[in-house]
Amino acid sequence: MGKKLLKQVVGPSTQRFQAITRTNIASQPDWQLISPADREAIRVVSEVFPFRTNRYVLRELIDWNRVPADPVFQLVFPQRGMLRSAEYEAVRSALEGRASPQALRELVTEIRFKLNPHPEGQLTHNVPTLAGRPLPGLQHKYRKTVLFFPAQGQTCHAYCTYCFRWAQFAGMPELKFSASGTDDLVEYLRSDPDVTEVLVTGGDPMVMKARVLRRYIEPLLVPELEQIRNLRIGTKAISYWPQRFVSDEDADDCLRLFEEIVASGRHLAVMGHFSHPVELGTSVARLAVQRIRSTGAEIRIQSPLIRHINDSPEVWSELWQQGVQMGLVPYYMFVERDTGARSYFEVPLAGALDIFSNAYNQVSGLARTVRGPIMSAFPGKVRIVGTANLQGERVFVLEMLQARNPDWVGRPFFAQYDPWAVWLDDLRPAFGEQKFFFEEELAEGS
Ligand SMILES: *Cc1c(COP(=O)(O)O)cnc(C)c1O
Ligand code: SF4
Repeated sequence: MGKKLLKQVVGPSTQRFQAITRTNIASQPDWQLISPADREAIRVVSEVFPFRTNRYVLRELIDWNRVPADPVFQLVFPQRGMLRSAEYEAVRSALEGRASPQALRELVTEIRFKLNPHPEGQLTHNVPTLAGRPLPGLQHKYRKTVLFFPAQGQTCHAYCTYCFRWAQFAGMPELKFSASGTDDLVEYLRSDPDVTEVLVTGGDPMVMKARVLRRYIEPLLVPELEQIRNLRIGTKAISYWPQRFVSDEDADDCLRLFEEIVASGRHLAVMGHFSHPVELGTSVARLAVQRIRSTGAEIRIQSPLIRHINDSPEVWSELWQQGVQMGLVPYYMFVERDTGARSYFEVPLAGALDIFSNAYNQVSGLARTVRGPIMSAFPGKVRIVGTANLQGERVFVLEMLQARNPDWVGRPFFAQYDPWAVWLDDLRPAFGEQKFFFEEELAEGS
């Protein structure tokens, strides 16, 4: 792209990617804009949770006049409330030199294990096998779609404080899983003709160089794998580093790859993670969207609902409307998963439903492609459809959008209304029943 246009769109301080972490944050000018109490919290809490950001996020997305309440500040900077007081104090005093580095490490590990580092049976239940051999870096939970985790894509341009893969980024070794090539994937797909799509995910696959990404994707584009009709790439790069598609050295190569995927006859869906409409507002993000769409790829919007970040209907209706105007398709609103600092970020299901419904009511039909609120839970993706009074009882109406057994999809089921429930485990079946309809089969299958 032309140098002049580039300068207009991508500011000089955000042209080259540089990760900002615990070790160099204090030398950023923005550090001085953070209060001493918040700086302490960042130091302490980032011992437990991963912290990574970059200049684009600092300069273009955070409104420093609104810190610490600013949504993007909450999105990337560790917050005091993410740890319980006793744990916060323990880490703080250990850091102040009252503990050996060894003792600090042990303390941090102990705290991490209490934070449910690996929710919803991700590792143990969804890894497929071929002739009895588990295939690392693959997950197959729902019939049509296989998830693929390429090794070099297991990081992100910045980390979300609420990330459900935080344990992996924090380096908890036994939780790492990724694929170093595509051979297993191709072999697995050949063995299962029911699979029609591959979702490349991470981390963020768009942290990979275009040539690395190409190495993983090209083998899927051969005519013999005609069964693969759709390719999805899960990414937050449009939010955290839109330069990836605009001014990075290999931005054009990346777009060429997208074009080749489309030319092979596949639908390419960029599953964009957007936490807040501010992420769509910069000129470089807008240009990134235009350039991606010009390859024939579609961009869909999905994100979890997170307290302190996007827990208001206005934020969501703005995100969806802004998205639609830019040619994006609103897809999913998720409920925050049961891991990490969930108690700081959680919104009860009843509140999530209120926010979703209010936002949904405000937007045109074009934005009502969105579905939510959704719990990506062990049995499947469960949507809270609404509440109702049935047989004299107030209930949540639920349905599955994806399920371990496809026959479960779309069947309404009912839970006792509970204003404080935050996850499927908290819900009890309505009408005096002992179990939800799927529970027996689920217990047999696991
Ligand atoms: C969400 C998800 C998918 C894709 O589901 P869609 O409803 O098709 O978007 C596939 N696999 C897993 C494990 C998922 O969580
Ligand atoms: S972009 Fe996704 S994987 Fe990366 S830190 Fe955020 S939630 Fe986690």
